[in-house]
Amino acid sequence: MDCPRCSQEDVLEIEHVLPDDIEVRFFFCHNCERKWWDKGGEYIDVAQILEIVRQASR
Ligand SMILES: [Zn+2]
Repeated sequence: MDCPRCSQEDVLEIEHVLPDDIEVRFFFCHNCERKWWDKGGEYIDVAQILEIVRQASR
């Protein structure tokens, strides 16, 4: 995975499984410190992830 901002390959990748077995990945670029989330190959905002968790915990 290359960083979409600086194109460096020094990117940390961590997998998370949300409630309902929704798999997301967190990325962190060591070069420019950009952070982003991926769900099924598409960019997802962290607010959407929090919403999924919030709805699952009702
Ligand atoms: Zn970067």
